[in-house]
Amino acid sequence: MAGETILIVEDNPQNLKLARVLLSSEGYDARTAIDAEQALILLEQIEPKLILMDIQLPGMNGLELTRQLKAKPETKQIVIIAVTAFALVQSEQKAREAGCDGYIIKPIDVTTLPQELAGYLGAQASAG
Ligand code: MN
Repeated sequence: MAGETILIVEDNPQNLKLARVLLSSEGYDARTAIDAEQALILLEQIEPKLILMDIQLPGMNGLELTRQLKAKPETKQIVIIAVTAFALVQSEQKAREAGCDGYIIKPIDVTTLPQELAGYLGAQASAG
């Protein structure tokens, strides 16, 4: 859905740029943060529908940030999609346990990501 705000949390500049350019071209309002601290500051100003959350971040990692956001009334409704290079079942379990709503494996597939995100956003819309 065009215009919806998506926050990309990613410490790798190339990955961040790729995701930002892709989501912007799909009509989303793509916002970015390079670590958990920056994301928390930004989330005091914006209300994204979805967060693309890199799990491996310097400092507080993406799972811990997800736990914090899912524990707060003002951010718990945000759809959080974990993004990780580790294609392990264990990683997906950990992401789910932390409260992530979905899981994407790096490198991002630019041909399927827009449809995946639209699916997550649509599922949230129909859930109310
Ligand atoms: Mn990273």
